[in-house]
Amino acid sequence: MADPLNDVYKARQSPRFTASRTPWDARPECVSIALKAQIDRIASGRKANRQDPRYGRPEEIGSGLAPARALRRRHAGDDWTGVRSMRIVMIGAGYVGLVSGACLADFGHEVVCVEVDESKVAHLREGRVPIYEPGLSELVLANQSAGRLAFTTSLKAAGRGAEAIFIAVGTPSLAEVGSADMSFVHEAARDVAGVVEDFTVIVIKSTVPIGAGDEVEQIIAERAPREKFAVVSNPEFLREGAAIDDFKRPDRVVIGVEDDRAREVMRRIYQPIERNDGPIVYTSRRSSEMIKYASNVFLAMKVTFINEIADLCERLGADVLDVSHGIGLDDRIGRKFLNPGPGFGGSCFPKDTLALTKLAAEAKAPIRLVETLVDVNDKRKTAMAAKIVGACGGSVAGKRIAVLGLTYKPKTDDMRDAPSLVIVPELQAAGARIVAYDPEGIRTAKTLLPGIEFADNAYACLSGADAGVVITEWDEFRALDLARVKACLAAPIIVDLRNIYPIKAMKALGFRYVCVGRGFGGEG
Ligand code: NAD
Repeated sequence: MADPLNDVYKARQSPRFTASRTPWDARPECVSIALKAQIDRIASGRKANRQDPRYGRPEEIGSGLAPARALRRRHAGDDWTGVRSMRIVMIGAGYVGLVSGACLADFGHEVVCVEVDESKVAHLREGRVPIYEPGLSELVLANQSAGRLAFTTSLKAAGRGAEAIFIAVGTPSLAEVGSADMSFVHEAARDVAGVVEDFTVIVIKSTVPIGAGDEVEQIIAERAPREKFAVVSNPEFLREGAAIDDFKRPDRVVIGVEDDRAREVMRRIYQPIERNDGPIVYTSRRSSEMIKYASNVFLAMKVTFINEIADLCERLGADVLDVSHGIGLDDRIGRKFLNPGPGFGGSCFPKDTLALTKLAAEAKAPIRLVETLVDVNDKRKTAMAAKIVGACGGSVAGKRIAVLGLTYKPKTDDMRDAPSLVIVPELQAAGARIVAYDPEGIRTAKTLLPGIEFADNAYACLSGADAGVVITEWDEFRALDLARVKACLAAPIIVDLRNIYPIKAMKALGFRYVCVGRGFGGEG
């Protein structure tokens, strides 16, 4: 019997398929016509032809769509055998929806991602993944080809017969206000209300303010009978850059559920994780919503704390790397999120810290600690631009500054609230000419950072520059030939906002090396 998975793997090994780190470049021809038909069939809600040998024997099929081989063991140590396949819809195919959808499909479930952005759906149907996330292209392709993952713009078609409908749409900051913009979630809820027939669990995966589950329930109840659905909170904790592993082998899965039928559906969805001893935490819906905000805010606080300690280290001659190592070894503190840098950015921490302060103020229980950290973090980005100007002798007017790294962190193409979006314009305003390089972020950066020149690689970026600045700690910057870097630069100045180079080596090579919080030796 032909195995569509094999077709994909063979196609990937063929010279026609050039593996690329930029997912839009993945070649569509490795997705066969048979596969497209299979995907269309899932998206349109039709059952698979049970006589079709691609789907295995009828008794192996479960719901009629998942091939029996979906239920086999996938990772050494992970036991996903015998997991009963469920029919799941994921609304929103962004960073969280796409990763969650692909991972749930990889568990053996049948997943249809519903996305309003038609071009995203068109690309995904051709096997092209519109974001950069390590391993995601491969995971999406394998599950598409196995007939477990499909993409559509129509919730009407996809929602029919789904046991669970996840909402994984954006909740950005409301301009000027700062609280979470719930309009996408509410719109998704209205859409869902139109497709609820048999008992359906609506799972809010987006990060939402406490009480949002009640709002969603109310919206759906305006069109669907209450006994036909239950709303559950299931916040996502994945980190971009390590998203697949985070989803499949999480520290915990949090489920806020107050309906026994919904609890059983959620238990079945996450059965593969439970079987592999992944902790599942059941709470009330509101507690679950609060757990997500409290987690993000706590981590943002750790980052902000070490940034302030770094500033103090600079003044007092201590080395923040030794300090964070020394305090991080204490189990009560932990080593993670204690790396000083240019301030946190990204798709979550900035908006979630701000949203929690607004929520707390509205609840008349202001969280002053968090209000302060938001302010400290905002100011830090501007302070980093001033640090660069200082390293260049007090002025960057007319100088060519080479920026290495634009994304908010490595291993993602995500530019949301990246520190570079503040630092680069500040330098431009001070008269600098900016040339920048980022392994994955340039496509988005071109739309967000006007008036800068983009280079094809780090050395080209540094060539002829009056200073080099590391904003994002991509591994390839750590591995640069520092002697070659010095030869490229017009002036041997490196401002390293991520502390990726050894001070001694930089000094020995004759750089003026300015880093963060490394006492007198690192020139602050
Ligand atoms: P995103 O902007 O990348 O993706 C959201 C997607 O939803 C977009 O593709 C958008 O077109 C689509 N969409 C919006 N309305 C829709 C609708 N009515 N129907 C179908 N599709 C619709 O956002 P994201 O980064 O995936 O974040 C989603 C949520 O998850 C947010 O609440 C975020 O805070 C949370 N979260 C994000 C991360 C992360 O690292 N990105 C981690 C944990 C939690």
